[in-house]
Amino acid sequence: MGKKALQFHRITPDLQLCGTWNTPEQFDRFLNFLKEQKIPVLLPDQPGSGIIITFDDGECSIYDHAFPLLKKYGMRAVVFLIGAYIGKENYWDIRLASKQVRHLSWEQIHEMSDWGIEFGSHTMTHRNLTHLPFEIIKQELIHSKEIIDTRIGGCRSVSYPFNRVNSKVLAAARSAGYTYGFGGDGTDHLLIKKEALYITDTAKSLQIKISERPSSLYQYERIKQKIINMFTISTMILKGTTMRSSAT
Ligand SMILES: [Zn+2]
Repeated sequence: MGKKALQFHRITPDLQLCGTWNTPEQFDRFLNFLKEQKIPVLLPDQPGSGIIITFDDGECSIYDHAFPLLKKYGMRAVVFLIGAYIGKENYWDIRLASKQVRHLSWEQIHEMSDWGIEFGSHTMTHRNLTHLPFEIIKQELIHSKEIIDTRIGGCRSVSYPFNRVNSKVLAAARSAGYTYGFGGDGTDHLLIKKEALYITDTAKSLQIKISERPSSLYQYERIKQKIINMFTISTMILKGTTMRSSAT
């Protein structure tokens, strides 16, 4: 089956307006499913087939609600940090409108890193890299890698914001020194396939997402993922509009 990545964002018991979150109970059921099915949970560097658990955006909810469960099951994961927001509260995500997002602090990152959680880059400012000039893409990728390497070391992976990657982004990731890239069609170490898990997912749909042979239900899941990604992109466009209007 090779290696496949599961993509999580926020793990919280509090109701969210977006689809990209999971409750701690749900996350517990997913991990329990992987354990019961004896599906290996790996880090990118580990040999063999299995699942890589990943978290995008580096929010505090990962420390508060996911880390205790990862420890309970003895499963490691990769957390992708947004370089400019580490240890900061920020309004970068318009989905939260009135609510600030807390991001992991270096203290929390160190504690998780000491336990065996790996940290990678989710760029500096979480922009769609495919829309940026090559030099800016390189800056986004190099600077964020340097920050993580300086503080904890071992930044080998990048997760492309909004799962947007093209040949230009791929070339920039390679030249920035990344070994693994998350997002893409699975044809390269820098294009590892991700399956996002949403609040609507169950152990059954998780099983379908990680199974080798796509079924018709799997196709349905792909369409659902595309629709949620479209919402994310409209968020991005709205945010761009807000930023431009506030700048004038
Ligand atoms: Zn993200």
